[in-house]
Amino acid sequence: MAERTRFLSFVVFCLVAVVVVSWSVYPWAEAQEGPNWHKGLPKQYKSKWLVHDLKRPKPEVVTQAGPVGSAPSDATVLFDGKDLSQWTKGNGKPAAWAVKDGYAELNNTGNIQTKKEFGDCQFHIEWRAPAKPRGVSQARGNSGIFFMGLYEVQIMDSFNNATYADGSAASIYGQHPPLVNACRKPGEWQVYDIVFRRPRFKDGKVSEPGRFTVLHNGVLVQHNTESFGETVWRRLAKYRKASKKGPISIQDHGDRQKVAYRNIWIRELDLSGSD
Ligand code: MG
Repeated sequence: MAERTRFLSFVVFCLVAVVVVSWSVYPWAEAQEGPNWHKGLPKQYKSKWLVHDLKRPKPEVVTQAGPVGSAPSDATVLFDGKDLSQWTKGNGKPAAWAVKDGYAELNNTGNIQTKKEFGDCQFHIEWRAPAKPRGVSQARGNSGIFFMGLYEVQIMDSFNNATYADGSAASIYGQHPPLVNACRKPGEWQVYDIVFRRPRFKDGKVSEPGRFTVLHNGVLVQHNTESFGETVWRRLAKYRKASKKGPISIQDHGDRQKVAYRNIWIRELDLSGSD
């Protein structure tokens, strides 16, 4: 009898051990999502996956080694403060902007553009207008980021500097003013985080216009804003058929204003299916 009791105790011990080990090895969520988890789950709208589908691919892990604002692990660093080796002049010759103290500075040598070409993307750039403002309206701290070399997000010192609304800092130049003026004082570093969805073309005509979402110093200033076409001055923008990718170019507006740039990186995206 005692032997049977010992055997039963051993069996109970083993069962408890199995439960405890299973409990500790499997996370709560998986314990909740049992073998019949998918049973009765509806198919998600516009998707081949079920709601809560365990087979749906998990988001890729992206890390950020430095502080917030530094390049994530899947980004292409375009300027790390050391050199402009990934940039050229418009004519293909080496970029000649001054590089010092971790930043690149406009010096009246013309626009610079990336050697590599990009379409849909997330783009990060930090910029600084000259500490001693000079000029008024469009002559003060004017520069800009041209996506695919064609579609400009304006850079300008808009701090206490009135100009036409669709030409102020973080405007889609000549088309859409920013939602608010988030410009910092001249001489202070500022940040743009931009999501660009390139235009799509069908039979040579634009079928889906380009779109911009822009955060200026963390403040939303453009939300899924439609680009009416290539950036122009005093005219209506229009689309010409563009390829799927183009260089990012930074404007030298020719006013001898030493706008400075640092920490430029880009994440290539595929925003097909989003609008
Ligand atoms: Mg400009």
